[in-house]
Amino acid sequence: MLALAAYPLGIRIEVFDPTSDACAAQVAVHHCAAYEHEAALARFAEGKACITCEFENVSVEAMRFLANQVAVRPAPRVWEIFQDRLLEKQYLRSVGIPTVPFAPVDPQRPTEALEQVGCPCVVKTRRFGYDGKGQRVARTREDYLTAVAQLAPHALLVEAYVPFERELSILGVRSLSGEMAVYPLVENHHREGILRLLLAPARDDTGALQSIATGYITRLLESLDYVGVMALELFQVGEQLLANEVAPRVHNSGHWSIEGAETSQFENHLRAILGYPLGCTAPRGVSAMINLIGELPPVERVLSVPGAHLHLYGKSPRPGRKLGHITLRADSVAERERRLQQLCREIGLMCHN
Ligand code: AMP
Repeated sequence: MLALAAYPLGIRIEVFDPTSDACAAQVAVHHCAAYEHEAALARFAEGKACITCEFENVSVEAMRFLANQVAVRPAPRVWEIFQDRLLEKQYLRSVGIPTVPFAPVDPQRPTEALEQVGCPCVVKTRRFGYDGKGQRVARTREDYLTAVAQLAPHALLVEAYVPFERELSILGVRSLSGEMAVYPLVENHHREGILRLLLAPARDDTGALQSIATGYITRLLESLDYVGVMALELFQVGEQLLANEVAPRVHNSGHWSIEGAETSQFENHLRAILGYPLGCTAPRGVSAMINLIGELPPVERVLSVPGAHLHLYGKSPRPGRKLGHITLRADSVAERERRLQQLCREIGLMCHN
C-alpha cells in the first residue's frame, strides 16, 4: 500500500523482504534475502533517498546496518523500544502517558509481578507478539502460574486485565521538518485478538477524547524526534484513555484513510520521510473498515454495496491471516450503518453493531 501511494507521486519503491511471496513484490522491485545478509542489504541501500519499514518485527540490526549507508526513518532505536512490550510501556510512562498497570515477570519469582498488578491479568511475551499472539488471560493465581509456564522460556510481562469500554486508536504523522498532523480518533472492534471492524471517526466523542489522544500522540512524536506515521492503540475507561500499544509505522487502524481521509496514512508517511509538506488528515464523511481474515468473500458481492472499496493483498488464504480489507464510505453515520448491514448480509460477516 506504501508502494501504491508512491507511484502517483513519482516515487520509486524497492522492497526488502526475506519471504519469496512478499505481497509488495507485486508492485515493487523485490530484494529477497535474509536480514543478516549484509551484502544484500548494502545492494538494497544503494542509490536510495531513504529507507523505512512497515513491518514491526524487522531486524533492528539490519536497520542499524542500513543506517550507516542511508537515511533510515524512523530511526532504528524507535523499533528497539516498540518491539519490546516492557520497554514500550516504560517509555510511555516516562513521557507521562498512562498505561495499564504492568510488571516484568521474573521467572525465578513470578508471584512478585502478580502481586503488583493483581488478578485478573494478562501475561504477554515481551517480544514478537501481535494480534493477540503470545498472550494469556489469567483469572486466578493458578491460571497465572500456568500461563507463565506455558509462555516460558520467553521473557514475559504481566498486565492488569482492564475492563475497558472500547478500544480506540489514533494515528499521527511527523515530517522531517517537524510538521505534525493527527488523524481522527477511530474505534476498533477485535475478536480473538484480531482487529475485525473499525469505525472512523470514533462514535460519541464530543472532542474530549480526541484532544487527550492528540496530546499523547504528539508527545510521542516529539519526544522521539520521530519521522513518519505512528499509531497509538488505546483503551477507553470512562473518560480516561490508557495506552496499550504503539506501532512505529503505517498501521492497520489507518487503512480506512485510503478512501476515508483527504490524505491516506501511506501518502503522508511518504511525504513525512521525504521531507515534503504533509497532507490534510481530515475525514471524508464517515468510514468503516472491515478486515478480511482467513478467507475471501466473492468480489462481486462486495462491490455491489454502495461505498465499498475492496483491497486484496494477493496473499494465499490461511486461518487467521489478514488477506485484505474493505473500506465502506458514507456521508452520515446512519448511511454507514445501513451499508454495513448490507455488506454483512452480502458476505455473511458477523456484524458488531
Ligand atoms: P495486544 O497484542 O497487546 O494489542 O492485545 C490484543 C488485544 O487483547 C487487545 O486489542 C485487547 O483487546 C486485548 N488486551 C490486551 N491487553 C489487555 C489488557 N491489559 N486488558 C484487557 N484486554 C487486553
